[in-house]
Amino acid sequence: MGRPMTDHDERAVITARGLSKRFGQVTALRDLNLEVRAGEIFGMLGHNGAGKTTTVRLCNGVLAPDHGGLEVLGLSPLEDGPALRRRTGVLTETPSLEERLSGRENLTIYAELFQVPPGRVRSQVEGLLERFELAERGDERVARYSKGMRQRLALARALIHEPELLFLDEPTAGLDPVAARQVHELILRLSREEGRTVFICTHNLIEAQRLCHRVAVLEEGRLVAVGAPEALAGEWVRAGTLEIEVEADQREAALAVLAAMPALRARAGEAAGIIWIESASREAVPELIQGLVTAGVRLYRVVPRQATLEDVYFALHDPAQTEAST
Ligand code: ATP
Repeated sequence: MGRPMTDHDERAVITARGLSKRFGQVTALRDLNLEVRAGEIFGMLGHNGAGKTTTVRLCNGVLAPDHGGLEVLGLSPLEDGPALRRRTGVLTETPSLEERLSGRENLTIYAELFQVPPGRVRSQVEGLLERFELAERGDERVARYSKGMRQRLALARALIHEPELLFLDEPTAGLDPVAARQVHELILRLSREEGRTVFICTHNLIEAQRLCHRVAVLEEGRLVAVGAPEALAGEWVRAGTLEIEVEADQREAALAVLAAMPALRARAGEAAGIIWIESASREAVPELIQGLVTAGVRLYRVVPRQATLEDVYFALHDPAQTEAST
């Protein structure tokens, strides 16, 4: 399962300019500038209280900003709230389902609430139950559903009126790995097969890296980084260590070859035949391999350690790393 390679166009579906929101003494969002493009899966990352949910609430017109401009699907969330909410779907962090009713009934009620045309309610509900693997147990009361089933039902409910733009607040919080993966696959399909724009709030870095085309990192209401996960890793994290393995009795010869290459710091690793190279960029790898092979060194493996979104996240909170990147 990989991130979708959608043809998302450059059209912005969310544009925030200088968006700020305070709650008493707490500044939930400060001067947020952000653009989310049509068709992308956009992740908003941040610790608890960073301002993620506040952003979703502002985008849906259920909160008013103190300052700044916000346009969602070409509409003003505050002025055009009802029209906008007919085109957006929201999965809140703790979705409340009607426990005493069945999954099928829960969806039917929502379909009516969201003014799905009466002639289409049944097919819409059955289609979603099928797609979210809930059809067989669709008549059971939700009180008997597992957490994974509830989350799938809540996601189905957010889609009942076929929104173009979907907000998912911590969509896999509390799910086991199997249930979380199932939800990930559903989200990927929403983007890949249906071209919907998905805005995900998460503090799960692996989830963000797996799903998102671009991510924004929020810290205490302030946007500290935005970009594709790989680009952020390149920008914020020092190049990683490379481990290479050569024929044990050729290690000295290999170190001599590497010493002649500019900008590489190579040293003998702990085990026989192992060499570590610090601060090697990915671009240095082909040249390095060619140099060793040309010198007659038998090379068994070269393993670059790719920086992850997790590295970015911690780099952003580590002053030494931040200085190195600026
Ligand atoms: P979490 O991951 O815990 O959901 P979050 O990133 O979604 O966090 P927000 O819920 O947006 O963060 O909250 C940002 C800040 O604003 C927090 O300090 C929070 O306590 C505060 N806050 C949010 N909503 C309100 C409110 N209605 N009244 C008072 N303070 C609020």
